[in-house]
Amino acid sequence: MTSRRSNSSGLGAVVGVVLLIGLAILIIKWALITAAILAVPFGLWWVYDQVRQRTVVNRRAEVEGRAVVDAGGGCGWCGSRIAHRDLDTGGLVMPADFHRDEIEATLAA
Ligand SMILES: [Zn+2]
Repeated sequence: MTSRRSNSSGLGAVVGVVLLIGLAILIIKWALITAAILAVPFGLWWVYDQVRQRTVVNRRAEVEGRAVVDAGGGCGWCGSRIAHRDLDTGGLVMPADFHRDEIEATLAA
């Protein structure tokens, strides 16, 4: 009586383990398939995001590239022949700093 009970519970344990393994395999399969399906749109989104970021960086470099001291020592942004000075301190400021607001406005447009 006692041995039969232990036998049946032993069989139950084996069935339980097999079921758990089967379930685990199903879950792993499902996770892999889901990952494969998700990888496509995420991959596309990643590529798109990279291109978009590069575009933003390039555009900023291009716009800021205009706000430099030109060959004549003037301002490449507004064409002023005189170097810009800080309104408060009177010290020289770089064109990119002097025209910071306009640069940001141009980039935002
Ligand atoms: Zn200027």
